[in-house]
Amino acid sequence: MKLRLLEDSNGLLVKILYLSCDPYKKFRMTKPYVLVYVEPFRPGSPLTGYGVARVLESGHPNFKKGDLLWGFTGQEEYPLLNAPETCFKIEDANLPPSYYTGLLGMPGMTAYAGFFEVCSPKKGETVFISEASGAVGQLVGQFAKLFGCYVVGSASSKEKVDLLKNKSGFDDAFNYKEELDLDAALKRCFPEGIDIYFENVGGKMLDAVLLSMKLHGRIAVCGMISQYNLEQPEGIHNLTNFILKRIRMEGFVVTDYYHLYPKFLEMVLPQIKEGKIVYVEDTPEGLENAPTALIGLFYGCNVGKQVVVVSHI
Ligand code: NDP
Repeated sequence: MKLRLLEDSNGLLVKILYLSCDPYKKFRMTKPYVLVYVEPFRPGSPLTGYGVARVLESGHPNFKKGDLLWGFTGQEEYPLLNAPETCFKIEDANLPPSYYTGLLGMPGMTAYAGFFEVCSPKKGETVFISEASGAVGQLVGQFAKLFGCYVVGSASSKEKVDLLKNKSGFDDAFNYKEELDLDAALKRCFPEGIDIYFENVGGKMLDAVLLSMKLHGRIAVCGMISQYNLEQPEGIHNLTNFILKRIRMEGFVVTDYYHLYPKFLEMVLPQIKEGKIVYVEDTPEGLENAPTALIGLFYGCNVGKQVVVVSHI
C-alpha cells in the first residue's frame, strides 16, 4: 500500500545510503552570495544536498520501489523527495553506489565539463590543478592524463601528494604549504609554462599561476575555496598577464552541463571497468558525523572525496 502522502503526488520516500559533503554548502549559509542555481539553507528546515538513496515508496512513474538514485536529496535518513526530477536513476549497480556522490555524480560531472568543455584541451598540453587530491581534482588529473596531457597537482600534505603521484597517476605534485615561493614551485614543475589551469582555490595560488601561464592559456574557474571563509577576498596582483598572454579565464557551474551526463557515463564507465580510473574516498560512518565531515573540508581533513555513510543497504 502506498503512503497516503505520496498518493496523487510525484514524490518519493527514500532511505539515504550516502551523503556528499561539498564546499558549496558554505555559500548556502552566507548571505552575500546570491545564488541562481541553488537555494540558501533555511533556518528550521532540513538541510538538502547531494546523496545516494534507495526508493522505499514511489509516486513517480520513473522510479519504483527498490531503485537506487543519486541527486539532490534531504540530508536525513528518510526524506520525502517532492521533486525527483532533480535525481538520476542508478542503472549500473555493479559499481560502489557511493561513487555516485563523487566519481559518477556531481564532482565527476564537474571534472568532465570543466576540463573538456571549458578548457578546450589539446593532447600534449601542460595542465595544473590546485586542490588536486579532492573529489573533483583527482578526476581532472586522471581525465587529463588519459587524454594525453602533462599533469601536475598541488595539495596540503605529503600523504596527499604521494596519492597524486602514486595512485592517481599525476606526472608530478607538490605540497603548497611547504613551498615558500609558489612561483618558483610552478616554474620548477612547468619550465615551459602552463597551458591549462584548473582553478579550485583562488588567492595566492591564482596570482602565482598567472606568472607561469603560457600564451593563449586557459583557466577554468571551478572554485576558490581559499576565499570562502574570508571577510575580504585577497587581491590578485598579476592581472596584466591576461592581456600580455591573451589568457582566457571562464567560470562555470556544473548544473549547466547535466545534459552531458549520458555522454560522460559513456566515457567514464568503460575507463573505470578497465581499471584506468581510480577514486579515493574518505568515508566516516553515521549521519551524526556529517557536520564534522563538512567542516573538515575547509581544514583539508578529507583525503579524497568526503562521503558520509548513513547506511550500507
Ligand atoms: P575537495 O574534496 O577538494 O575538498 C576540499 C579541499 O579544499 C580540502 O581537502 C583542502 O585540500 C582544500 N582547502 C580547504 N581550505 C583551503 C584553503 N584555505 N586554501 C586552499 N585549499 C583549501 O572539494 P571538491 O573537490 O568537492 O571541490 C573542489 C572545488 O571545486 C571547490 O572549490 C568547490 O567549491 C568547487 N566546485 C565547483 C563546482 C562548480 O560547479 N563550479 C562543483 C563542485 C565543486 P588540501 O588539503 O589539499 O588543501
